[in-house]
Amino acid sequence: MFEGYRGETAALATMHGKETVIAPAMLAHLGLNVMTPAGIDTDALGTFTGEILRVGTMRDVAIRKARIGMRASGLRLGIASEGSFGPHPQIPFFRAGLELMVFVDDERHLIITEALIAEEISHDEAVVVSASELEPFLPRVSFPNHALVVAPNLTASPWWKLHPERARSRKGIVSYDELVDAVDRAGRISEDGRARITTDLRAHMNPTRMRAIARLASLLAVRIATECPQCHAPGFGRVRPALGLPCRDCGEESTIPSGDILRCVACEHEREQRRLPICEFAEPGECPRCNP
Ligand SMILES: [Zn+2]
Ligand SMILES: [Zn+2]
Repeated sequence: MFEGYRGETAALATMHGKETVIAPAMLAHLGLNVMTPAGIDTDALGTFTGEILRVGTMRDVAIRKARIGMRASGLRLGIASEGSFGPHPQIPFFRAGLELMVFVDDERHLIITEALIAEEISHDEAVVVSASELEPFLPRVSFPNHALVVAPNLTASPWWKLHPERARSRKGIVSYDELVDAVDRAGRISEDGRARITTDLRAHMNPTRMRAIARLASLLAVRIATECPQCHAPGFGRVRPALGLPCRDCGEESTIPSGDILRCVACEHEREQRRLPICEFAEPGECPRCNP
């Protein structure tokens, strides 16, 4: 186990209360303290988008965010997380959240990344004239336990380009009275008289997301605490699945995963870890050649 972070402090760049779940995980697994620098604007790096979930670009944004916190605090260790919501990367027609967290160490020149797919995220939207139409929608999105965002549904005319502040959405709505008022206002200014209601995905407004971030913080802390068997750097962990088990009949690679490839972020040492239960071969039914 890597002990090098015991008693050190990392800057966590967040405006959304993520320290409540990230700090305990880092302290428990690493003895690492976490502080959140005041007065930073992580929303400047962009808010939620609904495109295909891509780890690459999210990781870049998370690293930039971590460095904002490190600059603001003068610390050489930084943590940041990013969430994205869109079509599931493996399951068609299924929406999911991808949560990604980075740990940046400018002392050792390391970046350690962990990610998870949060399949229970209830990201939904409704378009209505009045709040009374939201009867089935509200329990589905766990309102008021989870907050909502209300915006005018249609603001297409050029006038809105000149008055963007008038079309602005109202976020963090957690009471029914507030919701009724926001829907009325948004409906009055929308060109079609309707309001668009979406789930507020900011971590402090969405307990489901906060739980996913807590789970991810533990996974990241455990990965950081895992030493490379070769160079003893922190952050040794899974980077991709290993090749599938060979087919019993033809010996070709099957669709049954045999294990994981673990890799060091410092020396690039790789090792294969077999998954349990250990089988030597896959049945021909799982072989794309024998059973196409
Ligand atoms: Zn086969
Ligand atoms: Zn190594």
